[in-house]
Amino acid sequence: MNVEHHLQAETLAAYAAGSLPAAMALVVACHTEACAHCRNELRHAEALGGQMLERLPVKPVSTSARQAMLSMLDNQPEPATSPRPAPAAQQAPLNEGVLLPRALKNLLQIDHYNQLKWRKLAPGIEKVELPLTEGRSFMLRIGAGLAMPVHTHKASELTLIMQGGYHDALGSFNVGDIADLDGSVEHQPVAFDDEPCICLAGMDGGLKFRGLIPTLMKPFIGL
Ligand SMILES: [Zn+2]
Repeated sequence: MNVEHHLQAETLAAYAAGSLPAAMALVVACHTEACAHCRNELRHAEALGGQMLERLPVKPVSTSARQAMLSMLDNQPEPATSPRPAPAAQQAPLNEGVLLPRALKNLLQIDHYNQLKWRKLAPGIEKVELPLTEGRSFMLRIGAGLAMPVHTHKASELTLIMQGGYHDALGSFNVGDIADLDGSVEHQPVAFDDEPCICLAGMDGGLKFRGLIPTLMKPFIGL
């Protein structure tokens, strides 16, 4: 897996501090499971956070946030002891038909993608809503070559590509890539032509669509 788009330092710092909403923490857990680069960055963020904790008063994490985080992290992979990234062949595969990332398996209590209960939203677009109460989290399956409506974000959104990929104004996003976007980004992801795009999204606010048709589609799509 050749990951090009990674988590931002601010996101990793928030994750290390336990202050990301569970919906976004889930996406971080799934990405870091397969991305040696971000696992390494996370270790630095945790070390830095540990030093800061000794000096600063810290806002306590809510009990529900802590519980959600602990249950997801229960079976996180052991931190790599080697400074070198693991060879691609040893990283967790994310393709449909094979095992889900561990954090998703733990959350949904299923093992494989084909056990997901997809709900049709629009022609060629399906969704699985994930049972997290902090923020919003869902998986989307977008048919080959299909475009999502143009939208901006009220707040932050993390999107992890799990199969296929998409392109938008920010570039091409392939399996393992993560789009770590704040509220200022407006984009229109278009799935690659050759296969459906499956992605995992976590956000701390809703999406804001632009234009009449997207406005009409919003309740229909349920985003
Ligand atoms: Zn990464």
